Amino acid sequence: MPNRVTETTKWVFRGEQQTGYPWLDVGRVVLAEYLGTRPVTRSEIQQTLDSLLIARTGNKGYYYNQQTNRLEPYDKVNWVPPADIFIRIPGRSTGKRVIVHGRDYRTAPPALTVSLGAGRNGTCDACGTKARVRDAGAAMMPLLVNPSKFANFYPSLRRGFQLCLPCTAAGYAAFAGCLHVARGSTSHLVLFHGNPSQMAMVYRLVVQPYRHMPERLVAFRGAHTEETVLALLLRVFAHQELTTDAPEPALQTLGALLGLVPAEPALVQPLRLIVLTAERRTRGFDVHRVYEYESPAGLYAIYRRWLEALHRIRDDPRSRIERAFAQFVDRAANDTRYRNEIARAVLEARDPLPWIESFLFDVALRANRPLETGTEEIFAIYANEVLEMSEALQRTIGSFGWRLGRAAHAQREFGVLYSLRNARTPEQYLRVLNDAQFRLSLTIPSLLISLHEGERIEGTPWLRVKTLLCISAMNAYLRAKDNSVQQHTEGEGTDE
Ligand SMILES: [Zn+2]
Repeated sequence: MPNRVTETTKWVFRGEQQTGYPWLDVGRVVLAEYLGTRPVTRSEIQQTLDSLLIARTGNKGYYYNQQTNRLEPYDKVNWVPPADIFIRIPGRSTGKRVIVHGRDYRTAPPALTVSLGAGRNGTCDACGTKARVRDAGAAMMPLLVNPSKFANFYPSLRRGFQLCLPCTAAGYAAFAGCLHVARGSTSHLVLFHGNPSQMAMVYRLVVQPYRHMPERLVAFRGAHTEETVLALLLRVFAHQELTTDAPEPALQTLGALLGLVPAEPALVQPLRLIVLTAERRTRGFDVHRVYEYESPAGLYAIYRRWLEALHRIRDDPRSRIERAFAQFVDRAANDTRYRNEIARAVLEARDPLPWIESFLFDVALRANRPLETGTEEIFAIYANEVLEMSEALQRTIGSFGWRLGRAAHAQREFGVLYSLRNARTPEQYLRVLNDAQFRLSLTIPSLLISLHEGERIEGTPWLRVKTLLCISAMNAYLRAKDNSVQQHTEGEGTDE
């Protein structure tokens, strides 16, 4: 690598040269796709980046043409999302200012271009090359925005970070190499990091073709990170063995690369999925989260059990599953926090039930909206697989919960459900059930009141039994209240 950069200096991009920094590695793969492995000049690199990151907005501007002495239109351009959030380089005009009909114009249209910078002699922090380096900024490495917050992710960020020209170019190119899922002012940048040939495949098959229709890759769009990861995984899962409806081969391949099917010999390690969530501000942006998810295979095994179970009772089980997760939105407040917490628990193989309980009491009750058909089956399977709750216990909870909810509705005894929800100790739980027995003339199944060692019922902590009972009862109550359930479950989009 020469130390003096001139226009005749040439660089070679090889996708297989990895830095270990996911953002830059993705960018290198993108550049290798466009530039090949032949030596290229700085202006070729610049042109490639401009073509990837800058596009016409569809609007016209005017400049004053000195040859014709007239105002001439030009196509306005801007940074392509998501680069526009991070790159704040404005268009510059080389023309002079003139005043025509009392308004300011330039004598040449403004030009927009990425800045690769001149740099000074040093060592590149990403690839270790001794070369001209420049300080990296958020424009080419968004993770640098808050070094202290993300220092664990990129340990060397504690001191400044310097990049050579190829790494700078890769930093810019990565904006074109990630999937961009947006909701309002929030953007999720999804990166797939693995070996170069895997990343090149994902770029060709998924990122590039879906760049302008990322909504097809997610079951729903939310403002938070985990719900978006789950929304993407649900879509990838849905397309794994789809043969009847048109499958998306790209998503099948992505599933294989994520390790959903037993690894082929060539596939040493599945791709890692990394999501950066940022929010556009009037001036600049905030990076909220960097999230990494490595093991969707376990969740996919559960997904297949959901499919199997729903196949037996419902049509179109794939969209049933997507809707079951999509529904946890407080529409009045446009708030997807519950959905995100449920998604987070499911991704981390923890207990999502307390959030479903809260959603039912705090949101669904107000909106008069029972759970989507199939939801209880889905979470029953989850509780069985992940939380090791026995099927016998679940059946008992389900059928008693249903009777409890119906009776509370018929006898206008909603207070029983509230007391059950608020039970904080096993004693309170037993008292509420005892109370329900008398007030609603219900027989309590003995299993639900048989507390054993460690305050467990059939090996399950009493609180989890209470929570699931609350969910069943409340859902039955809402169903009884709302006889037009069908209208709710049909005809509502999941993309919110
Ligand atoms: Zn470098």
